[in-house]
Amino acid sequence: MIFRIIPGGAFVENTYILQANDSDEIILIDPGSQTDEIEDSLSEIDFQEMHIWNTHGHLDHAYGVDYFKKKYKADFNIHQKEIPILQAMTTAASRFGIPEFSDAVVPEIDNFIDEDREYIIGGLKFSTLLVPGHSPGSICFHLTKEMNPNQELAEDIIICGDTVFAGSVGRVDLTGGTNMEDLVGNITSKLLSLKGSTILFPGHGPRTTIEIEKESNPFLGGMFNG
Ligand SMILES: [Zn+2]
Ligand SMILES: [Zn+2]
Repeated sequence: MIFRIIPGGAFVENTYILQANDSDEIILIDPGSQTDEIEDSLSEIDFQEMHIWNTHGHLDHAYGVDYFKKKYKADFNIHQKEIPILQAMTTAASRFGIPEFSDAVVPEIDNFIDEDREYIIGGLKFSTLLVPGHSPGSICFHLTKEMNPNQELAEDIIICGDTVFAGSVGRVDLTGGTNMEDLVGNITSKLLSLKGSTILFPGHGPRTTIEIEKESNPFLGGMFNG
């Protein structure tokens, strides 16, 4: 399988591209404002069809959706609870005052992502976990080796958006956020309960594992040691 991480944009957001072996479809996750870098990566991949799946609707993860959706006739998938977050994109753009966000367009949604469901898209099988707190419809995509026996996955992986980061967790003071207790509770019950070797690929910064975050994340430690 092809698994690309493309960091970039004003908030150094991670966009992901996934493609199963022998598939002509790709999944583009969280296309931010690093359009050129994403296009560079796409130019190196053979594909006929694109599916855009978002972890959530914040501007740094959804700025590029409208552009890629229109250019590649892609379908756009996001949790229903992210509608108000997407609609706030344009006001968020003017609030941040970052020039590259000034022409933000709210993309049209094709399908709503359900939580706790298995999907097969372009030959890749994954399940969805709803982990709210940073935003109400924050979805994590979970791909296991067992679900994808022919994709040479070294470990199970989770693309976890802005729920948890290496050594940190998502902010709860942005559009749609709740509070730290809520977010940490949801991370603990939905993510930390998974296999320790599972690799977490966050919306910002480097990868980590469930085991490392359980042991050393100062925001999560209290739930286990306290
Ligand atoms: Zn976010
Ligand atoms: Zn973000």
